[in-house]
Amino acid sequence: MDHGADGRDDGTDSGADDDDGDGIVDGGPGDLASLTMALDEEFPSVIDVSLTTDRPGEAWLTYGLDGVMDQSTPRWTVDEALDTSVLGLKAARRYTVQAHVETADGDVLDSGVWKLTMGRRDGVLPAFDQTVDDPARQEGGFLLVTLMQADRSWIVALDHDGDYVWWHNAGEGRVVPTVKVSADGASVLYGSYDNGQLEDLGEVVRQPIAGGEQVRTRTVMAHHDFFEGPDGLIYWLAYENRDVDIDGVATTFTGDVVLRIHEGADDDASPTLVWDPFTVLPEPSISCSHVEEVMPSTRGHDWTHGNSLIYDPDSDGFVYVPRHLDRVMFVDRGRGELRWVLGADGTLDPAEGQEDVVVDGEPLVDHPHLSVGDEGMVAVFDNGDHRDPQASSVSVFEIDAGSQTWERTFHYTDPEGRFVPILGDIVDLPDGDWLTSWTNSGLIVELSPDGQVVRQLEAAVGTGTGRIVWVSDLYDLSAD
Ligand SMILES: [Zn+2]
Repeated sequence: MDHGADGRDDGTDSGADDDDGDGIVDGGPGDLASLTMALDEEFPSVIDVSLTTDRPGEAWLTYGLDGVMDQSTPRWTVDEALDTSVLGLKAARRYTVQAHVETADGDVLDSGVWKLTMGRRDGVLPAFDQTVDDPARQEGGFLLVTLMQADRSWIVALDHDGDYVWWHNAGEGRVVPTVKVSADGASVLYGSYDNGQLEDLGEVVRQPIAGGEQVRTRTVMAHHDFFEGPDGLIYWLAYENRDVDIDGVATTFTGDVVLRIHEGADDDASPTLVWDPFTVLPEPSISCSHVEEVMPSTRGHDWTHGNSLIYDPDSDGFVYVPRHLDRVMFVDRGRGELRWVLGADGTLDPAEGQEDVVVDGEPLVDHPHLSVGDEGMVAVFDNGDHRDPQASSVSVFEIDAGSQTWERTFHYTDPEGRFVPILGDIVDLPDGDWLTSWTNSGLIVELSPDGQVVRQLEAAVGTGTGRIVWVSDLYDLSAD
């Protein structure tokens, strides 16, 4: 449940022993040599901890609400001094916290008991109410999600209750559709673009979740999606124009190329071409009403509207989705070669996939988008712009590239017939459920494999939930 931007005290502590009014009751170092705890200046629901001990060992903290310390951090080796953070605490709630060191010979040194009230989330961030919850299906963990507002975007972490535990403002005038976790598990990575879609401001930002220095990588002509490669390079979707003769008139179409560059690159660095989808897609044409639109930023027709670039470490390949061409394409990263295409007409053969896939009847995918995909499976959020009735859905396809066959193993259409015209998302959870984001509806919905709604986080309509990432552990974002 949400506790509101204005905060709520547990009522377990009057603050009477908070002698300097900063919301912190200093419990002292106890058995430790020294101890300080303070709210992180940048992330006010993170506690920064510094301790020293005369006896080395393993240090950790226990903490909890209502005076009950029923939660615990990981353990860290401490020789003499340790600087660390407590993550995953609910905004505006009052926590009881204690530090401990277990020495090599098994003695446990305890600090005094501290009390700290977490900072309030920014007042412009919407509340999420949990409207459905099946207690038998408690997944725990945390949800990273982008929130796209009119003038800026946020990257936030919500806990299982839908309460804010972390939030980061990506800056005024920026739009952030995509958040990912870094390979080292310590940071979120996000693609940041001009909210007005006029200027080329593309960047990929590495933001450590426990605070610390950002790394910004300039990604020219970037839009929608990117990934961190196994070589440590940043790969991204970049707009690319081609002119095509249509009835004797040179007509400009905007598609995509995949580029890469070293992290931290600035405007002076030259990216490397990884893959050119123009070489395998059909000749550009006005294939639907969306392609008729001319994009202000590129002055070309919005031909591909590439929106997804997903890396698969097992096969060292990546998924690319040209939304307006209704297909999901899988590419070998090292060779820059197309492996297969899942098309609207159900073909899987790359050669067949070069055919025009606008077919009569119900297309397999209609203006899709995805965040989870590999050589053998893709989970698709289908915007369904051209379906009749116009409604969005999610599907999971098992792929067998060897035999060029596919099977749809999961399909869910919103019972209220919601239509999500931008983004939307679907990711897998460890217990086999699917977590879905219904962007402009402000809904994040967990679905069981048989299509039952087991949990729903609901914010105001128009909230703009972007891509989602479920993580089991905030201390190691890349943990399974
Ligand atoms: Zn269209």
